[in-house]
Amino acid sequence: MNKQNINHLNASGNRVLVRVDFNVPLDKASHITDDTRIQAALPTIMHLRAQGAAIILMSHLGRPKGVDPAQSLKPAAARLSELLDAGVAFAPDCVGAEVEALAKALRPSEVLLLENLRFHKEEEKNDPDFAKQLAALGDVYVNDAFGSAHRAHASTEAVAHFLPAYGGFLMEREINFLGRILTNPAHPLVAILGGAKISDKLPVITNLLPLVDKLIIGGGMANTFFKAQGLAMGDSLVEDTALAAARTILENSGDKLVLPIDVVVADKFAADAATQVCGVNEVSAGWRILDIGPKTADAYAAILKNAKMVVWNGPMGVFEFAAFANGTNKVAIAVAAASEAGAITVIGGGDSVAAIEQSGLADKITHISTGGGASLEFLEGKVLPGVAVLPEG
Ligand code: AMP
Repeated sequence: MNKQNINHLNASGNRVLVRVDFNVPLDKASHITDDTRIQAALPTIMHLRAQGAAIILMSHLGRPKGVDPAQSLKPAAARLSELLDAGVAFAPDCVGAEVEALAKALRPSEVLLLENLRFHKEEEKNDPDFAKQLAALGDVYVNDAFGSAHRAHASTEAVAHFLPAYGGFLMEREINFLGRILTNPAHPLVAILGGAKISDKLPVITNLLPLVDKLIIGGGMANTFFKAQGLAMGDSLVEDTALAAARTILENSGDKLVLPIDVVVADKFAADAATQVCGVNEVSAGWRILDIGPKTADAYAAILKNAKMVVWNGPMGVFEFAAFANGTNKVAIAVAAASEAGAITVIGGGDSVAAIEQSGLADKITHISTGGGASLEFLEGKVLPGVAVLPEG
């Protein structure tokens, strides 16, 4: 998938309207608790500054219903200014005469961040008139917000119809790595899927199964497969409505689908629960599976050792509690080791990204996706509106 990207743009002297994903977590005092998303947009912003473009940045933050000062992007302007070591102006709104004047007054290499797009309901409605007002702020449009590309919103979709449109460096990187898994993977390709609910992951399982050599399953979603096989799951999380789908996948997956062989069970869903390791066919009434077991983690590490390409989305257990984080941590170590041995490794989804960061191994991974929902939809084979609207490069 070759999209027109920022390398095809000479932005010198232009006003460039850039959709970034500055949807950063804020604490109660409006301090940014994790600036990863701002950092991820720096290559595009720095490149445009170096070219002498005037840069107008726009983003959403949170899910405000109308104007909400607690969800202002102002803290992001301050943080970006620190990271760039340059002033970043902040506009009190994202459209209107005052904002247009601020955008017009920008000189080459100056940066203006607009207020939260979602203070206007038209943003999420993909409203063409609102998009036109956004487009009036720039000469060209660059979308670097892969994390929002699965939404057809005014700033990710409609605006691209009114200006010459390009993908930013982050957008390009995400499309390249995720696209390669679907279109040109190195083999053996191993996918690791975890997380709580199988229903959320059914589309991605279905799309990846024909492409992968192995599809490793962990987390609560394994339980529904076990129940479909007739195993007793005690008090484990099971989605009865997905049993039929799980059965179909089991019947059609040959030896590609790999399920846990042992598990860590707990007597309650709590950090201080009593725990035991048992076989997947030994889960007693009153107990629940909260992690993969040590034999499973070793087996998964052995599969990953031979991989040439790995994609991981979702934790192997309730990794928020230390007692049930071992499976996820061991998989994180095994993915990092595969990377060091030359595999291309891609991690997406907030929890798996958090796990690899906690393990201190993030720098070993080839590509850590910034788009949780967007990367999952991409791997499901869905068309992302914010990507589809960019012209072919
Ligand atoms: P998801 O949002 O579907 O990717 O799920 C992530 C969540 O799954 C994390 O908060 C984990 O605590 C949870 N999770 C993982 N394994 C289990 C399990 N065996 N039982 C219940 N929750 C789980």
